[in-house]
Amino acid sequence: AKRWGRAAAVLRDLEERCAAPPARLRQVADAVAVEMHAGLASEGGSKLGMIISYVDSLPSGQEKGLFYALDLGGTNFRVLRVQLGGKEGRVVKQECEEISIPTHLMTGSSHELFDFIAAALAKFVASEGEDFHLPEGRQRELGFTFSFPVKQSSIASGTLIKWTKGFSIDGTVGEDVVAELSRALDCQGLDMKVTALVNDTIGTLAGGRYDDNDVVAAVILGTGTNAAYVERANAIPKWHGLLPKSGDMVINMEWGNFRSTHLPLTEFDQALDAESLNPGEQIYEKLISGMYLGEIVRRVLLKMAQEASLFGDDIPPKLKIPFILTTPHMSMMHHDRSPDLRTVGVELRDILGIQSTSLKARRLVVAVCDIVAKRGARLAAAGILGILKKLGRDIPGSDKQRTVIAIDGGLYEHYTVFSETLESTLRDMLGDEVSSSVVIKLANDGSGIGAALLAAAHSQYL
Ligand code: ADP
Ligand code: MG
Repeated sequence: AKRWGRAAAVLRDLEERCAAPPARLRQVADAVAVEMHAGLASEGGSKLGMIISYVDSLPSGQEKGLFYALDLGGTNFRVLRVQLGGKEGRVVKQECEEISIPTHLMTGSSHELFDFIAAALAKFVASEGEDFHLPEGRQRELGFTFSFPVKQSSIASGTLIKWTKGFSIDGTVGEDVVAELSRALDCQGLDMKVTALVNDTIGTLAGGRYDDNDVVAAVILGTGTNAAYVERANAIPKWHGLLPKSGDMVINMEWGNFRSTHLPLTEFDQALDAESLNPGEQIYEKLISGMYLGEIVRRVLLKMAQEASLFGDDIPPKLKIPFILTTPHMSMMHHDRSPDLRTVGVELRDILGIQSTSLKARRLVVAVCDIVAKRGARLAAAGILGILKKLGRDIPGSDKQRTVIAIDGGLYEHYTVFSETLESTLRDMLGDEVSSSVVIKLANDGSGIGAALLAAAHSQYL
């Protein structure tokens, strides 16, 4: 009985420290908007990179021809080809393949990683069928979605600022990733030109806009998290180039690196950060994204095991292994609707080797998942509110203009409690009138199509 009391105390404490009530979320949203201004004002002016993407116009629908896309973002990478048919034909045909990245390549050498990717792409190109048409004498063109912080120097070049999300490869930081990919493509004997370098947020924004003209921002909630939106070019003091014809510039916020004293951080978050590959960085990402949610839960459960013997007198050895409890596992347990929480029991046994658990212990586990997932979802909603504030779309407008946010990523797509909490939180924060014109749209793999569309828009043959 005593140990349940102690476990309940850990839970209560967690709940208090993770609390993100509306007033706090408003502070977070305000801080995001303030940091957006600061990041646009000067290079390095904010924790938010607010990176100029060199994408100054989004797809119009006129794009035509055969284009490839390659999406390197986290756990997997995807290759895609699409035959675009212009205004009438739209997407005539598309094919996609997903390949998982062997873990050793995530911390190996840059050459090995890019060689692996190029080899997979070459194989995919070799399987191109009759339905795809490359005009005589033309080079294949590719949009490269590289979802790590990159300092762009043009639409098709940029250097890696730092690795995130569990990648840590020597010698790539500071290098031009397009040059690196092009070298690897050459090695494969693949005649292909990279005409656009973007990240997943920009790809999703482009793909989202192709589908819906009112898309103004894109958010990724997958292994990591990030956002991009359309800014007025004359509202970017740090931009010294010519003003683009469109008057617009897409900004890659790199919002994963946001931090603020208003973020509800716990001892678990602090320990996770300190032991991570990138301590002190990507603090917002570490509270929100799929790479970390399960790991936070594991740390809480470990404390409950140590201080309250939650799983019996011995601490389950596997519970001590970092990242053993993934966010998909967490979401499986969280969504268990059976009266005896059967799935929770099965997961705890299969993943953590805990042979038998009482219903009471299972309930505690679900309660921990609930606190951690909802905190992340609410903070993500606050980030979106920050963007809407920056755009002036958080207050009722005179026109009934729609505002659409395209969201992509496995976390948002599969973790129902997370996505529902995000949506309801944003609705509550905006109020009925404004939320009736704000739409959140799942842009499932919009990033792949988006990168191909941007490759088309920047084709060497235009
Ligand atoms: P990436 O972010 O690597 O480009 P995805 O957008 O597919 O890839 O997101 C994958 C991430 O989404 C996984 O790392 C995981 O954290 C999360 N995820 C995938 N499936 C689920 C699920 N069923 N429940 C919760 N999270 C999930
Ligand atoms: Mg992705």
